Amino acid sequence: MTRFISPRLEGLSPYVPGEQPRDRSYVKLNTNENPFPPPPAVVEAARREGERLNLYSDPDCLYLRESLARYEGLEPENVLVTNGSDEALSFIFFAFKGGFIFPNHTYGFYKVFAELYGAPYEEAPLKPDFTVDVDAFIESGKNAVIANPNAPTGLFLPLPEIESILDANAERLVIVDEAYVDFGGESAASLIKKYDNLIVTRTFSKSRSLAGMRLGYIMASKELIADLNAVRCSINPYNVDRVALAAGTASLECEEYFRKNLETVIGNRQYTAERLTALGFTVIPSCANFLFAKRDGLSGEELYLSLKKRGVLVRHFKKSGIEDYVRISIGTMEDMDILLSRLEEIIV
Ligand code: PMP
Repeated sequence: MTRFISPRLEGLSPYVPGEQPRDRSYVKLNTNENPFPPPPAVVEAARREGERLNLYSDPDCLYLRESLARYEGLEPENVLVTNGSDEALSFIFFAFKGGFIFPNHTYGFYKVFAELYGAPYEEAPLKPDFTVDVDAFIESGKNAVIANPNAPTGLFLPLPEIESILDANAERLVIVDEAYVDFGGESAASLIKKYDNLIVTRTFSKSRSLAGMRLGYIMASKELIADLNAVRCSINPYNVDRVALAAGTASLECEEYFRKNLETVIGNRQYTAERLTALGFTVIPSCANFLFAKRDGLSGEELYLSLKKRGVLVRHFKKSGIEDYVRISIGTMEDMDILLSRLEEIIV
């Protein structure tokens, strides 16, 4: 860092996204993207909106907020649209007092945001079976942040457990990051009318095949949304571009494509989990579009490197407690068969 950097940012340790390599073509199973393109109507809506890019986007994101509110059974005032759900999380970590508690193995950006904004934080160890230690969240006075399903494990925490954290202390927030919820979890959005300390974040990146568009949203009480909107408008009132707004609105109208896509990914996940188990892997039961798996006698790093050499990219975290595992995104059936045949070569 240069001598010009703010002392506040000395020692900043940024989030490291999964590789997006350009050196050769890979079967890319490392960043939980959807293997299928967005539906044609979404591509067409984005193309059409491209002709209006001389004009600023709607700073209120009104049409998309109205569509999302209808879709979720809420009011537009319960919804805030963001530039990917990473931006949603950024606003939340920036806005609220009281510090944060999240699991020790979860989405790495939580810790980065807490450090960036100088918010106190606590990492609650997952239980040995990787489930969330709900009591630690109940007992902590800090705002709880729970990815549900969690990443990188894929495990889902049932809603009554989320409610027990919400009920334990109405003076702190419970933030549920539902980036992967469409692949098998149950959304906490239905609880927003009941709890004014609940915030739910979502993304169009995974289940809606729009990772490259950068589109996410927040659902919460009108008052919490107003707080977050004040933060948004103090940073970038045009945080979501015209093309993303048009694509997002069109996406919500492609329900059949969306459901079929989910069914395929879930089917491919089931198939891959069974084949991995037959190959001697331990596979954590996943409600997301990825599997977290390990095999005795092979370190996670060996697995990652051997697969990379053979043209398949998966994600490995060099982190005590999960270093034996790799996280494998669910791709097309063809992708998964290539992965499995490379693994067969590695294992023998
Ligand atoms: N939450 C979790 C748990 C994630 O894995 C991701 C994807 N990296 C995000 C949020 C952010 O996704 P996006 O910014 O693409 O909406």
